[in-house]
Amino acid sequence: MEPAGTEPESRPPAQEPPGSTALPSEEPEWGEAAPEPQQEAEGVPPPAPVALGRRPNGPGSKGQAKRGGAGKGARGKRGSTRRAGEEGGRPARRPHVTVDSSKAKTSLEALKISLRQLRWKEFPFGRRLPCDIYWHGVSFHDNDTFSGQVNKFPGMTEMVRKITLSRAVRTMQNLFPEEYNFYPHSWILPEEFPLFVAEVRMMKDNDPPWKPTFIVKPDGGCQGDGIYLIKDPSDIRLAGNLQSRPAVVQEYISKPLLIDKLKFDIRLYVLLKSLEPLEIYIAKDGLSRFCTEPYQEPTLKNLHQVFMHLTNYSLNIHSGNFIHSENVNTGSKRTFSSILYRLSSKGIDIKKLWSDIISLVIKTVIALTPELKVYYQSDIPAGKPGPTCFQILGFDILLMKNLKPVLLEVNANPSMRIEHEQELSPGVFENVPSPVDEEIKVAVIRDTLRLMDPHKKKKKDNQSQLSEYASDPKEDLLEPEPTNKLEHDIRKNPEASLPSLCLKQVFPKYAKQFSHLRLVDRMAALFIRFLGVKGTMKLGPTGFRTFIRNCKLSNSNFSMASADILYIDITRRWNSMGIDQRESGMCLQAFVEAFFCLAQRRYKSLPLHEQVASLIDFCDYHLAILDEKRLVCSRGITERRAALVTCQPDGLHLTSATPAPLLNRMTTASKFTDYRNHRS
Ligand code: ADP
Repeated sequence: MEPAGTEPESRPPAQEPPGSTALPSEEPEWGEAAPEPQQEAEGVPPPAPVALGRRPNGPGSKGQAKRGGAGKGARGKRGSTRRAGEEGGRPARRPHVTVDSSKAKTSLEALKISLRQLRWKEFPFGRRLPCDIYWHGVSFHDNDTFSGQVNKFPGMTEMVRKITLSRAVRTMQNLFPEEYNFYPHSWILPEEFPLFVAEVRMMKDNDPPWKPTFIVKPDGGCQGDGIYLIKDPSDIRLAGNLQSRPAVVQEYISKPLLIDKLKFDIRLYVLLKSLEPLEIYIAKDGLSRFCTEPYQEPTLKNLHQVFMHLTNYSLNIHSGNFIHSENVNTGSKRTFSSILYRLSSKGIDIKKLWSDIISLVIKTVIALTPELKVYYQSDIPAGKPGPTCFQILGFDILLMKNLKPVLLEVNANPSMRIEHEQELSPGVFENVPSPVDEEIKVAVIRDTLRLMDPHKKKKKDNQSQLSEYASDPKEDLLEPEPTNKLEHDIRKNPEASLPSLCLKQVFPKYAKQFSHLRLVDRMAALFIRFLGVKGTMKLGPTGFRTFIRNCKLSNSNFSMASADILYIDITRRWNSMGIDQRESGMCLQAFVEAFFCLAQRRYKSLPLHEQVASLIDFCDYHLAILDEKRLVCSRGITERRAALVTCQPDGLHLTSATPAPLLNRMTTASKFTDYRNHRS
């Protein structure tokens, strides 16, 4: 598979890198390039490949490149698949999974290849009947979808904007400073500019030799757009319109890990399979994007050199030094596994590194989920028809010199392009397949689809999907089946021809280690409960009063009038920050702040996270009592009504009252025990 002459040092790990359990451990070397694809007939999906894996020149055909909306020059080997036993007539198979790809945009090409490998049915122009899966290129709202599954969550794009992400992480940093120290110290501009100035001055006073650098990143920007480095708060470009272009200013990590003297970052793909219950998968391999000029620690002289400081592919591709490589372990874009292999050959503990990265990912998702749930119930209110959602996220991570991973940002729409632009001669550009992108991205999309397969979901065996998929392609390779038997199996189940999943479940697998962090999630559950009107995202004053009353939070020290003042103060401040003015009322982050205030008043001596946990337990306990009372009450009504019905001489038909839904299914008794345990 490797071209001759590759340095053994930089060979990617075809097998598990030494010492790692988390990395692709048994990725078998599947077959080489495959013949041309079959024409796709209406209603009949194209054949699945027998052989998959790295194809040095990139698979595909010209025709498909065109259909897939690839750039005009897409060179045509993409989409090549080996015919799998179609000669014997139509294979017996389960119903095809149907996928609407009409809004897939730049992920279309990789999606098409994935669907072909899975033998699923693509609807490139949409379909009048509902599809099983809708693949959106940008957001949940790309299409009006009322059923099936959509590959985007409502609100994700908003949640991962630089300011919102920084706020969500900061809330977690307030609760768990040690656990969330993987995100650089950040300030939100313009509102925290005075705080930024004051804090930097204080830190400099305390530590005079400290010569920090900061990076200013416009909110909602991408691809390095508008980013610049500064040495002093006074260098912020306040002139003009800071107000109209809010930003995050962040401590700049000035000692990154270098490879070949170059700064690089890691793009990892993470599948948020479900919000409730939380399910997270991480792709075992990702991409490493390299700068194109040797790194030097920031000085006033080199601050402006973007090819030295910013790892964005979209910037560095324009550097004369950018190296396009057919090989996944050389060039300016490489697989992450090739980096790990290289580090491990230098004796670095990549098992620890990988587990730090997994923690970073899980903790970040835990920071994002509370508000995502608010968006979710607003767009898809419980009880109304709507799709279920999943989403592939792109995590950008920087490794520090000491190998500590740092979160740079999360992308709601990570690029799924599998080609890049190349300048053939001055001014003449052509889109050419990018083998590195294709190897990583097609596997991520294909395996996301495998995990979301609606037919598998229906089977409803509670067995872990992972173990089902992991059933072992390696064994097939080691003890090859007779060809006919293999073809027969592939016809029955196209997955028989696929490699084991590239996505590894990390949550709930490691839930135990992280569940104590999910305090904001529990606050969000309270918030949602009191939102009242379906479809809203902000709590009105009445909802807040009901929360205070039902949770028994007012007393002689804290009157309902004080609760009103707290509501007004905090809500006014959050709304003045210009966050989502469409609705009036208290947003989740404001509610969290109010909750912190209430917790601090009640449990003064505890650390913040314990104060908050205690108050949540207290609220849950009182709400459970209330629910129980309502249930008893509604039972009483039902019984009285039933008695009434049996007494009706004319057989009047009354529908029996349904018991009030118990939002929280824990019994009062168990809540009480929980509450008491926590307090003792
Ligand atoms: P964008 O969305 O515009 O790509 P990022 O937050 O990813 O914005 O930043 C762009 C690049 O800047 C990153 O890929 C990384 O190379 C560099 N960078 C961003 N934040 C930091 C930081 N705190 N320390 C060091 N480098 C950073």
